[in-house]
Amino acid sequence: MSNYDVLFESVKIGPVTAKNRFYQVPHCCGMGHLRPQAHAAMRGMKAQGGWAVVSTEETEIHPSSDLSPAVEQRLWDERDIPALQLMTQSVHEYSALAAVELVHNGSHTSNLYSRTPALAPSSRSLDMIYPKQARAMDKADIREFRRWHKAAAIRAKQAGFDIVYVYAGHEMSLPHHFLLPEYNQRTDEYGGCLENRLRLTRELLQDTQEAIGDSCAVAFRFAVDQMLGVDGMQAHEEGRAVVEMLADIPDLWDVNVSGWANDSATSRFKPDSGYQTEYTKFVKKVTNKPVVGVGRITSPDMMVSLVKHGVLDFIGAARPSIADPFLPNKIREQRAEEIRECIGCNVCVSCDNLGVPIRCTQNPTMGEEWRRGWHPEKIAAAKTPQSVLVVGAGPAGLECALQLANRGYEVILSEASKHLGGRVVAESNLKGLALWRRVSDYRIYQLQQLDNVNIYLDSALNAQQVLELGIEQVFVATGAIWRKDGIGRTSRMPIEGLEQVAVYTPDDIMNGIVPGQGPVVIYDDDQGYLGGVLADHLSDLGHKVLFVTSASIVSPFTELTLEQKQVQCSLVAQGVDIYTNKSIVGVSQKSGHAGVELKCVYGGQDVWLACASLLLVTERESASPLYEQLQQLLKDDGTSMAMSLTLIGDALAPGLIADAVFSGHQGAQEFEADPDVVEQGLFKREMPSLNS
Ligand code: ADP
Ligand code: SF4
Repeated sequence: MSNYDVLFESVKIGPVTAKNRFYQVPHCCGMGHLRPQAHAAMRGMKAQGGWAVVSTEETEIHPSSDLSPAVEQRLWDERDIPALQLMTQSVHEYSALAAVELVHNGSHTSNLYSRTPALAPSSRSLDMIYPKQARAMDKADIREFRRWHKAAAIRAKQAGFDIVYVYAGHEMSLPHHFLLPEYNQRTDEYGGCLENRLRLTRELLQDTQEAIGDSCAVAFRFAVDQMLGVDGMQAHEEGRAVVEMLADIPDLWDVNVSGWANDSATSRFKPDSGYQTEYTKFVKKVTNKPVVGVGRITSPDMMVSLVKHGVLDFIGAARPSIADPFLPNKIREQRAEEIRECIGCNVCVSCDNLGVPIRCTQNPTMGEEWRRGWHPEKIAAAKTPQSVLVVGAGPAGLECALQLANRGYEVILSEASKHLGGRVVAESNLKGLALWRRVSDYRIYQLQQLDNVNIYLDSALNAQQVLELGIEQVFVATGAIWRKDGIGRTSRMPIEGLEQVAVYTPDDIMNGIVPGQGPVVIYDDDQGYLGGVLADHLSDLGHKVLFVTSASIVSPFTELTLEQKQVQCSLVAQGVDIYTNKSIVGVSQKSGHAGVELKCVYGGQDVWLACASLLLVTERESASPLYEQLQQLLKDDGTSMAMSLTLIGDALAPGLIADAVFSGHQGAQEFEADPDVVEQGLFKREMPSLNS
């Protein structure tokens, strides 16, 4: 008996039964119809890890819903069935149910590949940046759409799916567009009152039941609240009314909030786990059908509480299942402390927005199951048991040391500072990033469980000391430091006159150095997330912040993580002065005061801003002197050792924390691997078929 037994009860969903309450809800992965083998392996891994239901991403039902260049699934016609069969087979192998989220994206698509006109309840501009409008559907279009949806449901059944979705969420699908007055201005029986706006959804649910309901469950994914207050659908008004009107028609309610940025909120803006349940908890009171809900739920105790208090029947997860595909099994086997908890950074989401295979900060094997053959819980045993030295305990060094130790090597991890974690710990001390610390916490805990790892803190190693250790296998993970000369994305040469102001870098602020009195200019020429975070952080500490960026918006990278609007709103709300499209070209004096000279990147008017301090968020430099010294010694024959020296993480190439973890993992995976298996940069690829 365990407290968590309730999570492992089976639950009936219409004609099928889920073996437990862990439900991987639909989530994008950048694999879709272009990378079906990678997709099947990734979904199959979740089934192997214990999820009772594993869903696809959006699955387009017709060429008039073509999300290219995003890579989603397709069931346009029967030629798409075999690729999806790969997934249903891999999921069924572990007795999990396979679910498919059928979608027609209405005006949330530009049909760039199919060149078909987009469809909508009323003619509206497309959501995408493409100057085209969707055409208003007439009755014949609605009939056709219903026919396509039904045909796709039949194809889904043929592909082996157990659960078929009707999808009205994220403001991304036709049924949702029909429901929402801002999209639906029709005056016929499909527009106006809620009953009319809901008509299409009701018809789709009935059509789907009719088509495949004998053996497949019909799920309804519905956003109960748009989080726009009175300006949108609210859970306690029309959101509830929809659930009441359809109550027992679907076999399962999959409920969330919209748009996508609200549903997949980052920990920077929604630090709490289970942040959606305040909106969705009413649903179970209205329907007798099982309910699945989400909200970055990673705590097993919270899961139990949600089930026992009648809030949810299924613990829904996208990101927690990405960060740890084996989360259910770890809970079942009383190993909850081994869960690799999602940090809510949305790097996974960024990949979908970029149309590339998914990756995850916490789980470096995500997306690599098929092409590199990586497994989140298993790694090949050491070929030649021996000692290995890892220098630097940031995300790269920690992951590398952990995986080398898991392989069975004797690992020595040496860290210059008094604590483990490197940039992860430093960044997690900034406003909004506290949960990022899980990246190092997880790895430190795992390392502590192993007896073939020796960790030395306060142990900065130089080349001579490394040689004296006599260890021939060395991984250098010494990270990177932020530049202090102003060189960055647009300023390719050092900024002149910097000696006239107090210049700081992100490393200074993260090390607890506080700029003095007077306004702080933050120059964000990096355009990632950190400039915006630092502006938020310093302004929160009471500094007057002037934010200068060469980009046209604050922190453009955060558009990919769905945060940009919140980032910029938050700076505006805190009274940060924002100067966009400006690069800093020098520091000069005016009337006895120092200030920065801003040049408009589009040739507009130049600006001069007085400032006491300048925080440069521009570029980083690899901090690899140790590597270079060791290389030199080896080259000069300064040692008789046959040392293998591998540079990993930010010291190799500064990037995201996700890149550093990946690099550390790759270093450990490829150590002593057969050279023909690991040829630099090579991995399995899915080649286009030449069949028409
Ligand atoms: P990454 O993201 O690549 O893991 P970090 O900058 O987060 O890089 O971490 C690098 C770590 O390496 C830091 O904790 C730093 O203190 C440590 N370090 C740097 N140089 C040395 C050295 N010579 N010996 C031991 N540790 C070092
Ligand atoms: Fe969570 Fe970040 Fe991994 Fe996405 S990338 S699953 S948000 S840890």
